[in-house]
This record gives sequence, structure tokens and C-alpha cells, in this order.
Amino acid sequence: MARTSYRVRPETAVLTRGFDPALSVGSARPPVYRSSTYVFPSPEAAERAFQIVLGKVHPEGDDRADLIYARLNHPNAELAETHLVPLERSATAAAVFNSGMAAIVTVLITFLERGSSLIYTQPLYGGSQHLIHQIIEPLGFTAIGVPAGNTEALAAAIVRQPDLRLVLIETPANPTLVMTDIKAAASAISRHPRQPLLAVDNTLLGPTFQHPLMRGADLVIYSATKFLGGFSDLLGGAVIAADPELIQSLTGVRALLGNILQADESWILDSRLSTVALRMNRQSKNAQRIAEGLARHPRVKTMHYPSLFTDAAQMAIRDSQTDYPGSLMSFEIDGGRAAAFDFLRKLEIAKNAVSLGGVETLACHPKTTTHSEYSEEEFAAARINDSLVRVSVGTEHWRDLLADFTRALA
Ligand SMILES: *Cc1c(COP(=O)(O)O)cnc(C)c1O
Repeated sequence: MARTSYRVRPETAVLTRGFDPALSVGSARPPVYRSSTYVFPSPEAAERAFQIVLGKVHPEGDDRADLIYARLNHPNAELAETHLVPLERSATAAAVFNSGMAAIVTVLITFLERGSSLIYTQPLYGGSQHLIHQIIEPLGFTAIGVPAGNTEALAAAIVRQPDLRLVLIETPANPTLVMTDIKAAASAISRHPRQPLLAVDNTLLGPTFQHPLMRGADLVIYSATKFLGGFSDLLGGAVIAADPELIQSLTGVRALLGNILQADESWILDSRLSTVALRMNRQSKNAQRIAEGLARHPRVKTMHYPSLFTDAAQMAIRDSQTDYPGSLMSFEIDGGRAAAFDFLRKLEIAKNAVSLGGVETLACHPKTTTHSEYSEEEFAAARINDSLVRVSVGTEHWRDLLADFTRALA
């Protein structure tokens, strides 16, 4: 597939890499290739394609296997992957999955070895936490949770675990945006004799505002359903790495699990990638104005938003590892659950829905929805209470949104 002859910046690469219109009747935009199977130019080419896929032959330079079958690989997944790479600083390879959960489970299954253990920051996305408790632990892996933002506890846990294979960090943590120091975790890992892998779920601030590979992470994981997709109309996931062999291991397992992102969804995701930074910048600007406005409202008790952090350690992590505060905030409304529900009921522009990262503003009550399976101890540790609402700010005009929130608080 075509490539520009000189190096270009990410905004350009995302629109120019990997697609040659001449191979598709001159179509300016890539078509959807819905084929489940691919015709080989010769039996020898078929043999070679299988040898490459099974790792018996290693292609060199631009030489590559012919396409075989869409569960292994297909042009639209390749295009989305080719365009994710320039968006993630320091990346060389990417793999797309049919949801964020599919990406996470494939990382765990691929890299955890028999008898090895996993460390993760708490809270994690609810689905990730369930996955660990309901599937990974019963399979015999030890999983150790460490409170998000606690740099010393995370480093100590890494040192204490001789059979450690993988560290999974989610930063900022949902819904209170507590940040965990990626570089400090990578540094603790670098002193571990087994060299475990560091995976960062970068869904909330990446790829535009936080760059884990540059801070020592090995794998960056996304729910592409959120900012990458950006319009709340597709499910997808992605894993991106600086080491292409890590991605090759993942795509091998993906072919067995059958959880590659399908052609239509890959095409939609690919078409959204050129606007991720535009959308995220606008959404972050909106959110910052709204968070700073609402923080002064007499009925808003506590505002969780990166530009309004007051804890010195959290401010230091924010300043060193993130570029902008992003578009997610959560805040406590005076009056407990009844007041929080009333607020959600009265919203006219923002919609009462879970999920985040879309161009439309969404609001929810974490305690009874996204985090409803937590125990009382977990609620307390994650600072999730009855008064708390979470908002994902979209691209509407911020004054209209602030007026909507202010009306709903009245
Ligand atoms: C939504 C989300 C996931 C799960 O992604 P799906 O696409 O819903 O499977 C994982 N991690 C984070 C941080 C998320 O927000």
C-alpha cells in the first residue's frame, strides 16, 4: 500500500498513509472490503502467506503476506491500525478489536503465563474489574489491586511480586480522575528481574493528551468506543505498542479468539481518526470552562477535574504526564441521591447515559450505574457516593451546556 516518500506529522499521516486510490478504482476514500476470504495469486503465494502467519517465515522490509481470511486480518482493520500508529507518540504497531473489553481480555490472555501474577490500579473500569474477578482469577492467576494514585504502594507491590508478568494502570481513574504516575511504575518495573509488561488503559485522555509509551509503558489500550470513535455509534478497541512483536503476539491470539474489529466498524473508526484531536481539544476546552464555572456553584460540593486538583502529588503527576485536562468531570451535588437524580432528570441538552467521549454530552450517576457492583469498601476507597454525578462533555457550545447544568441544579 502507498506511503508518502517523506516524513510527515501525525495530522497528515492519519490521512495519507496506507491507502492507494489506484488499487480501488481511484476512490479518494478507502472503500469497505467486506470479503471474509481472499483469493491467492498462486498456490505458492498461499503457502507463503500461511508460513508468514504461522511465524515459520519472517517477511523482510516491505514484503508482507497476502491476505488470507478476515478473522486473521483484512484491509479495513489494517487501515485503521496504520492510522492509529501516528496518533500515539512513539508507536510502531497497532491492533484493533471488536470492543475495548476484547482488547483488554486479549492482552491478559496473551501475556499472562501459567502461574504468573497481575497488578492493577483500583478503581478500574467496571468491566475490566469483573473480567479480572470472574475469569482471570478463577483461571489461577493472582491479581493484586493497588489504589490509584499511590506511587509508593504501586512500586512496593511490584517489588514484592516475584512472579509478576503484567501491570495494568488506568489513569486517570474513572469517575474521580485520580492519576497514577506511569513513569514511576515503569521505573519500578525496570528493576524487576522478570521485566513484566506495563499496560496503560489510555481511554480517558489518549491519544491526544497523554502519551504512555513515552513514559515507559509497553502497551497502550483503548476502548475505541469512546474518543477514537467519538460519536457513540460503534464499539471497538485498540492496543498500540512501540515494539511490533508485542502486537504480533496479540494478533496471533486475536485470530484464535475471533475478536478482530469487523470491516464496517473498522471503516467507521478509520474515518473518525483524523478528527480525534480536533474533537478532544474542543471537548476539553468546553469541559474546563464548565468545571470551573460549576465549581463555584453553591450546590456543587466537590468538583473532580484535573485543572482543579488541590493535592500536591496529584498536581505533580498531572503536570508531568498530561497536556490538557480532558472532557470528563465528576462532582457531588448537595442533597444526596435525590438531588443527583433530580439533576439528571432536569437536564435538557445533556443526556442521561453511560459511556463517554462522544460529541454529545452525557451524564450519569456512577454509584447506581457504571459502578453499581462495588462493595461499600470499594465505594469509600474510590470516593464514589450518592451525591456524585459524572459528566462527559461534548462539542456543543459550552455556554449552552453550563446554562443547562445551572438550570438543572436550581
Ligand atoms: C468503556 C471503557 C472500557 C471498555 O470498552 P468497551 O468498548 O465498552 O468494551 C475499558 N476501559 C475504559 C477506561 C472505558 O472507559
